[in-house]
Amino acid sequence: MFVPYWRQNSAASAVLIPGWYRIGYELTQRLIPGLEKEIRTLHKLVGNAVIDGRYLVVGTGEMQLMMAAYSTVSMEAEGLPVNVVIPPPYYDAYERQVKTIKPGTVTWGMPSLTLQNTENWIPLEVVISPNNPDGSIRTGALKHPRTRTVYDHAYYWPHYTPITGPLDDDLMLFTLSKTTGHAGSRIGWAIIKDHEVYQKMQLFVVLNSVGVSHEAQLRAAQLLRSAREGYQKAKNVGLDGVPTDYAAQQLLFHFAHTKLRSRWDRMNQLFQASNRFLIAQDRDPKYCNFFKEIVRPGPAFAWIHCQREEDKSCLEIFKEAGIVARGGARASKASRPTKIVTSKDAHSSDCWQKAWPLNKAQIVKDI
Ligand code: PMP
Repeated sequence: MFVPYWRQNSAASAVLIPGWYRIGYELTQRLIPGLEKEIRTLHKLVGNAVIDGRYLVVGTGEMQLMMAAYSTVSMEAEGLPVNVVIPPPYYDAYERQVKTIKPGTVTWGMPSLTLQNTENWIPLEVVISPNNPDGSIRTGALKHPRTRTVYDHAYYWPHYTPITGPLDDDLMLFTLSKTTGHAGSRIGWAIIKDHEVYQKMQLFVVLNSVGVSHEAQLRAAQLLRSAREGYQKAKNVGLDGVPTDYAAQQLLFHFAHTKLRSRWDRMNQLFQASNRFLIAQDRDPKYCNFFKEIVRPGPAFAWIHCQREEDKSCLEIFKEAGIVARGGARASKASRPTKIVTSKDAHSSDCWQKAWPLNKAQIVKDI
C-alpha cells in the first residue's frame, strides 16, 4: 500500500551507511537519539499519544516488545501464574507466541474456574485497539483487581482510524510496520509511564538481542523524519492551502488514508451487491483531530461473514475466487468470519527495484 508513496519520496527517505559507521555494540543498547526525537515529534504532530514525560523502549518490532511485556509482568508476579487474555477476535500471533515460547510464568487464556475468583493469579490483558482483525476500538474487559494491561495501538494512526485524542495508557506499543509500512525493518516502540516497568522492558531487549540493529533504527529515523518534513513543508504554507491532490501524493497519512478509503469504497460497492457476504465491521464516521474533519475508519482488514449455512468455509470460498484471506478460526475460535487484507497490493514484491536508482542518497547525522 505504501510503496508508491515511498517511491515518490525516494531521495528524502534514503539512508546511506558507510562501513565505518557504528560498528560496535555500544549504541545498540538503547534507542538512538535521532529515532527517539522522530518518534516523539511524530506522536505530537499526529496527537495520538501522550509522549512528554514518558519513557521509550525500542524493540525488534512489537513482537519482541510483547515478549518484553510478558517478561516484565512475570518478573513482578513473584512466582504467581500470569495468564494472557484477549477477547476474540484477536491477532493470533500473540496466542502462538505465548503457547510456543512459554515465557516465564506466563500461559495463554483464562485459568480454571477455581483459580479465576482468587487472588492467586495475574491476568495480563492485551488490548489491541484498533483491533486486528475487526478494527474495533477496545478498552480493557477484565475486572480482576490485579489485572495488568498492555495496549497494542499499532493501528492508531490517521490512515486507519479517526484520531479522537492522545492516548495515555500505562504501557502502549506502536510499530513502524503500520505507521510507514516498513514491517521488514522490524522496529517497534513502547511508551511507558512507570520507570521500573521501563527498566525491565529495556533489560529484556538488551538480554534478548543486545538491543536493536543500528541500521534498522537509522532507517526508521530517516523514514519518520522525511514524513515529518513533508508535513512541516505543508504547514509552512498552511495545511488548508495545500491542494488535495498534492496532499494525497506527498503527505504520508493523507496518502495512505486516501488509498484505504478508495479500497473500502470499492469493497463496499461489491459487498452491498451481495447477500451472501457481509462486512461485519463498525465503520461509523467520527471527527478526526488530525485531518480536522469527520472521517470513516479505513481499517487494514475487512472482517467478513459468510451468511449462508451451506458455505461451510468462508476461507475456501475466497480462495477459490483467487482472493487471499485468513480464516476467522485463527482469530476467534469461530470458523465462519474471514479476514481480507485491505492494505496489501497483490503485486508489490518488485516495487523496491523500480524505486532505484535514487536521485540523491544521504548519510543520517543523528548524533
Ligand atoms: N500488533 C498487531 C495488532 C498487528 O496486526 C501486527 C502485525 N500484523 C503486529 C502487532 C506486529 O507488529 P511488528 O511488525 O512490529 O512486530
